[in-house]
Amino acid sequence: MTKPSEEQALATRADLEKRFAALSLPDRLYIDGRWTDAATGATFDRISPRDGALIARVAAGDKEDVDRAVAGARRAFDSGVWSRRPPRQRRAVLQRLARLVEEHAGELALVESVDMGKPYTDALAVDLRVTVQSLDFYAEAVDKLYDQVAPTDRDTLATITREPIGVVGAVVPWNFPLMMAAWKIAPALAMGNSVVLKPAEQSPLTALRFAELATEAGVPDGVLNVVPGLGPTAGAALGRHPGVDAIAFTGSGEVGRMFLRYAADSNLKEVSLELGGKSPQIVMPDAPDLTVVARAVAGGVFFNQGEACSAGSRLLVHRDIADELLELVLDRSRRLVVGDPLDPRTEIGALVEEKHLERVLGYIRGAVDDGARLALGGDRVHLGSGGCYVGPTVFDRVDPRSRIAREEVFGPVLAVFPFEDAEEAVRLANDTEYGLAAAVWTRDLSTAHRMARSVRAGTVWVNCFDDSDLTVPFGGYARSGLGGRDKSLHALDKYTQLKSTWIKL
Ligand code: NAD
Repeated sequence: MTKPSEEQALATRADLEKRFAALSLPDRLYIDGRWTDAATGATFDRISPRDGALIARVAAGDKEDVDRAVAGARRAFDSGVWSRRPPRQRRAVLQRLARLVEEHAGELALVESVDMGKPYTDALAVDLRVTVQSLDFYAEAVDKLYDQVAPTDRDTLATITREPIGVVGAVVPWNFPLMMAAWKIAPALAMGNSVVLKPAEQSPLTALRFAELATEAGVPDGVLNVVPGLGPTAGAALGRHPGVDAIAFTGSGEVGRMFLRYAADSNLKEVSLELGGKSPQIVMPDAPDLTVVARAVAGGVFFNQGEACSAGSRLLVHRDIADELLELVLDRSRRLVVGDPLDPRTEIGALVEEKHLERVLGYIRGAVDDGARLALGGDRVHLGSGGCYVGPTVFDRVDPRSRIAREEVFGPVLAVFPFEDAEEAVRLANDTEYGLAAAVWTRDLSTAHRMARSVRAGTVWVNCFDDSDLTVPFGGYARSGLGGRDKSLHALDKYTQLKSTWIKL
């Protein structure tokens, strides 16, 4: 899928509302290829942040359900029905799944948009496109991977082979719900593992529909299970489960640490963590076209309502061009359309829920109290809609020690800092506990290379921001992550064991 079809991309708000009303939303657990209620019978409400409407009551999985899902995943794994199937057959099934997701992209994008508030057009053009690409990438890779023979002496044959790790627990956040799940499910399944996915309680719907499509594509029962539920119950049960061999987690640092504890207290399962960020965009005085930079700065922080781990939430700009660039950023930001996620003109949709909106507004009030200058926004907007909307917000004269400078807001808030020279820029860029991503804008080749080397981050963009491709790994240094990368062939390391076999000749 390269582009959404014209029909999908041109859908009007009224069409989309009508289509959404006609959908029957998945609201139960998906275990062993079947829909099932939670053992306790409990449910949780899905309130759309678009307008505050109740859209579903979803079964709230708990320990007993996680036990059932892990048992099903283990049975499937041990039976070899998927884990020992020839790679080319797994490829064919995952490619069928990619085609089914492509076919249902409009429906999945619509559900994602209403469930968690991002613009439908973004859900279609980014989340669904990348989900399909992830499935295709790992499907295509899996029957082209060779194992290794070690260069030992002539009397020995030592082989190094990859084996699936077993039962993988995937726990994902709500900001790119299906895409984050696909970054984990696609390589895990390609390598022959079974998966139990726990989607975020704010956005469980697309993962459930995806699991049903996986069965239709030929993924055997028990190989992919989805247990929606709350973090401290369903999430913790998966983290602590002795039958889970690996956890692949994306979310906040606070919960990431819990997964390390769960592993330590249970079976020392492998844990990989993709966590938050406070990414800087460094703009040198010789930056190419400042209008282009301003677009990338506004897009880099306001895309997905600022609910992006890699959001460029710190703008570090050389003093000589600081006023000019700030004006251009403000001008660009003022033009961004904040509104109903189903309106095709909308560029910034709704924040995921009231609680998160309050958290974002709390950061904004705190920044004002800490003496930052509010240059734009700062308010809740579209109050009458019943939804959770905050306009693009920009602070300058920010104290680098203040909370708005150091903590991840995960909302549409930019903090601007001037600097004198390259050395100060790098010092400010690295003055963070995070290390997910950064950008450098300069025409000078050696400045670009020197800065790219000096900034501690998993990704450094030069004269661009947020560019990405499935072939390039994504993940963070420092407190932005641990235990490997998502995307690219490097992601396979998280879902495989290496076996060394010695044969005496
Ligand atoms: P979160 O940590 O609150 O939740 C993530 C997942 O963990 C959810 O499924 C949740 O139900 C579960 N969870 C919550 N509490 C739990 C507990 N006590 N035990 C077990 N599981 C629990 O994160 P969020 O608010 O959903 O997402 C936002 C965070 O995700 C941000 O920090 C963001 O930067 C990060 N993120 C990182 C990346 C990346 O690739 N590095 C990508 C997207 C988001």
